[in-house]
Amino acid sequence: MRLTSEQAEFAAAVRDFAQTEIKPVIGDFYERGEFPANLVRDLGKLGVFGVTLPEEHGGADEGLLMLGLALEEIARVDASVAVTVEAAVTLGAEAVAQFGTDEQKHRWLPRLASGQGLCAFALTEPSGGTDAGHTDTRARLEAGEWVIDGAKCFITNAGTEMTDLIIATATTGPGEVSCIAVEPGTPGLSVGPEYSKVGWRASDTRPVYFDGCRVPEANLVGQRGEGFHQFLHLLEGGRVALAALSTGSAQGCLDEALAHAKERESFGKPIATNQSIAFMLADMRLRAHTARLAWMDAAVKADDGESFGTDAALAKLHASGAAVDNARDATQIFGGYGFMNETPVARAWRDCKILEIGEGTNEVQRMLIARSLGV
Ligand SMILES: Cc1cc2nc3c(=O)[nH]c(=O)nc-3n(C[C@H](O)[C@H](O)[C@H](O)COP(=O)(O)OP(=O)(O)OC[C@H]3O[C@@H](n4cnc5c(N)ncnc54)[C@H](O)[C@@H]3O)c2cc1C
Repeated sequence: MRLTSEQAEFAAAVRDFAQTEIKPVIGDFYERGEFPANLVRDLGKLGVFGVTLPEEHGGADEGLLMLGLALEEIARVDASVAVTVEAAVTLGAEAVAQFGTDEQKHRWLPRLASGQGLCAFALTEPSGGTDAGHTDTRARLEAGEWVIDGAKCFITNAGTEMTDLIIATATTGPGEVSCIAVEPGTPGLSVGPEYSKVGWRASDTRPVYFDGCRVPEANLVGQRGEGFHQFLHLLEGGRVALAALSTGSAQGCLDEALAHAKERESFGKPIATNQSIAFMLADMRLRAHTARLAWMDAAVKADDGESFGTDAALAKLHASGAAVDNARDATQIFGGYGFMNETPVARAWRDCKILEIGEGTNEVQRMLIARSLGV
């Protein structure tokens, strides 16, 4: 796809930041399982968090295509930082931007758009994420306040020093799911310790608990009872963004494997001169290319106001598979070094599996695609 000069310049600026600022240091954060708050704040200064948000609240009013370009460039060197942005914007801040009141937008969006504050979206519960309409967390109205009780799990950005807001889904009546915003520090809200994760180790993922947690009635985000439809809609954008992230990962694996294959010698010649390695690289290029076409196609439809749910599912299913396959092949090309945590491809290998699980598993994407076929 041919980008406008503005899109190409933005992608180049993010690429430069990712290559010069994130790439040299992220491996150490990853090993320590530490959230790189200052890097995330600096990305905010580049305008990455505000890309899709309204101009009047500090955003750039651009679309998913522009955000996807940024996510692809970040994920090309590291998926942890990319998912921090992805979850904060497409699920968190977008919930406020698309469904919030004017007062909520004025209050929360400027910091979220600047990337100095982060928003978490808490949908998944210990009893299940796929069947998200079944929400055990309850909220009842009492004297002008929502009183929330329940637990969420695997919530990205829930416990960082930058977290401004957690938007949680809760059952507010029979068959009625709503979204309610809770600010850190609210009595009755607690956030558990960071999980010990296989991958995405420099991102923040935690359980969240509500125990008689009281917030003003005005913290309802969107219409009461519309929470289920709201998050289904948000997840469509999230899937396009996660497909862009997956494409970046697939491309990053190709970048690393190609450089290694040209340099590493075996039997007196670079391993890239063996057809088996060259063909592996060709397949990796094909996967990154088709994944890019898929997420961009879905993003353009979304930005043009067309329905894009099936395209988002196609893009996410295809791009996550491309990331997994490229991580496997890149690791193979690196040989034993590919099994060492110090190499970026080992990180990609650990990071890629969640791409087939988060924001709707592969099974969910296939269900959506099959449904679009009338089966
Ligand atoms: C690192 C990380 C970050 C995350 N960040 C967030 C976040 O910010 N916010 C949030 O709300 N959630 C988040 N999640 C949760 C994630 O979205 C869920 O893990 C995912 O949706 C799957 O839900 P589950 O883990 O409960 O699996 P389950 O729903 O228990 O599913 C288990 C398996 O059964 C399959 N399955 C279930 N139902 C069916 C069916 N009807 N037909 C066929 N197969 C089926 C699934 O596809 C899956 O393979 C995160 C998870 C991780 C690991």
